Amino acid sequence: PGTRRWCFADQLGPHFLDGPDQPVLLVESRAVFARRRFHRQKAHLVLSALRHRAAELGDQAELHQVGTYGEALDRVGEPLSVCAPTSWGSRDLVLRRPGVQVLAARGFVTTQGEFAGWAAGRGRRRLLMEDFYRDSRRRHGVLMNGAEPVGGRWNLDTENREPPPADGRIGVPEPWWPEEDEIDAEVRADLDRWEAEGLASFVGDDGPRLFPVTRAEALHRLEDFLEHRLGAFGPHEDAMLAGDRWLAHSLLSPALNLGLLDPLEVVVATERSARDRAAAGDLLPLNSVEGFVRQVMGWRDYIWHMYWHLGRDFRNRNFLAARAAVPDWLAGLDDAAVDAACLSDVLGDLRRDGWVHHIPRLMVLGNYALQRGIDPSAMTDWFHESFGDGYEWVMVANVVGMSQHADGGVLATKPYAAGGAYIDRMSDYCGGCRYDPRKRLGEDACPYTAGYWAFLDRTQDRLAGNHRMRRPLQGLDRLADLEAVVEQERDRGTTAP
Ligand code: SF4
Repeated sequence: PGTRRWCFADQLGPHFLDGPDQPVLLVESRAVFARRRFHRQKAHLVLSALRHRAAELGDQAELHQVGTYGEALDRVGEPLSVCAPTSWGSRDLVLRRPGVQVLAARGFVTTQGEFAGWAAGRGRRRLLMEDFYRDSRRRHGVLMNGAEPVGGRWNLDTENREPPPADGRIGVPEPWWPEEDEIDAEVRADLDRWEAEGLASFVGDDGPRLFPVTRAEALHRLEDFLEHRLGAFGPHEDAMLAGDRWLAHSLLSPALNLGLLDPLEVVVATERSARDRAAAGDLLPLNSVEGFVRQVMGWRDYIWHMYWHLGRDFRNRNFLAARAAVPDWLAGLDDAAVDAACLSDVLGDLRRDGWVHHIPRLMVLGNYALQRGIDPSAMTDWFHESFGDGYEWVMVANVVGMSQHADGGVLATKPYAAGGAYIDRMSDYCGGCRYDPRKRLGEDACPYTAGYWAFLDRTQDRLAGNHRMRRPLQGLDRLADLEAVVEQERDRGTTAP
């Protein structure tokens, strides 16, 4: 059966073992809950998944419930192997430990060696997601017609940006929800106790568990998505609706990031499902199939590889010199303190579920922090702790790079800053808001619209060299009321809008 395999709490699927009988070490370390204030449901998810895996493996696994990893390892009297863990800190930990053999990372479509080979390719000046994604599609033969992409185009992103349907209905059934069991009840009781004893503190609501904690549940959710939701996913992927927070999203990211599913199996299952349905005369839109495949084997893998490629100091980049603290209402997910309809609704969903999809993350939460100059590293921690699928590796590149432009344009060629007009186009929020997305000055000035101009004014020197920002920056000269807008937004600061 081989050396005992130490599996971290995000390495819970069978693909982290070398065979079905390999002995396993699982460690539930409480120290991390004392250090960080996680969303209550995220803490629940991780502990429940770990304990479910231990129960599933029975005698094959040792589960140590301890203060720190070190305590558990001191108790284990045999050599261990571990698949390279997912953060700089945990890699340091395993590499320092004598008697632990560190293997190549698993849980991603491309290996780190394949990425390194791609990155060092001749003539490669920039490491663009699009180029990486095409290379990976070719390498794994996903959605390919010989040497050509299925449908003749690699990327249908421009067909993933439709506003929400006018009737506010996306037309898919509710997602499949898992059922809690006695392990969940134990986790809930432990978290209550830790909180009461001051050993941990949480944000967000406790609530029925929404995300899979076992492989069986994860596969169930995948099947449900492929059968009922995938077809509607693509066109409205970027839309937001106050009355429907799930839309046609897969809700698979927490399961993928716990390691319950192998992303390549998800991609293969997606392609197979699309083919089978096409053969039966039920053709799924390519912008849905390709859009989902791009998320799983494109973005997710790219973000993972860039986390390592960019180095451990990347998280401290602060190109736009953003130094404001995360305000208490945001840290505490206090949606009731917020009037802005979009932000209040998104924050409320996050408080309730520990999840919102990528556009509320990027264009409502991230956009707010970017405009208000909140410290990118602090925002990275906030995203990591507040989301069920949040981990160091996924948030550093996404938040520091994509969302906050703190890398000066390594990951994204321009900042994801947008005014209220974007949110108005992509959602149904503005109609019911006390602010007006067209106004930048006055009591009812939209904090996103006014914040956008104040952001450009504040960062214009740093962004002047970015050719994609030339037009927006020229717009500043045409604003007769710019000074007043900037002063108004300085007064508003990070007070709940
Ligand atoms: Fe959000 Fe502004 Fe629209 Fe209100 S008016 S919902 S603050 S974008």
